[in-house]
Amino acid sequence: MPGQSGPEARTWEVPMKTLTTYRRASGDIFWHFRVACKDWPQNSFDERKDSEHPPERGGFCLKCIRIRTNERFLYLRKNFPFLVPSL
Ligand SMILES: [Zn+2]
Repeated sequence: MPGQSGPEARTWEVPMKTLTTYRRASGDIFWHFRVACKDWPQNSFDERKDSEHPPERGGFCLKCIRIRTNERFLYLRKNFPFLVPSL
């Protein structure tokens, strides 16, 4: 039955197919990718948009990673409640 078997059904890391905007403040090495981040660069920055592949050079902001981790947890709990126990 389509969508019920195959490798996708056993993949824990569910891809989120949204276009992501990456910003890196001038002179910094960390890319931000969540507008909600307190440190989201506003003035002077490099920017690129990508749907799947993050920028190949540099690291990522820990605050943005935490925001995304929380988003994924909420996404999994909503769509795959049998995988994520209630708190
Ligand atoms: Zn950030």
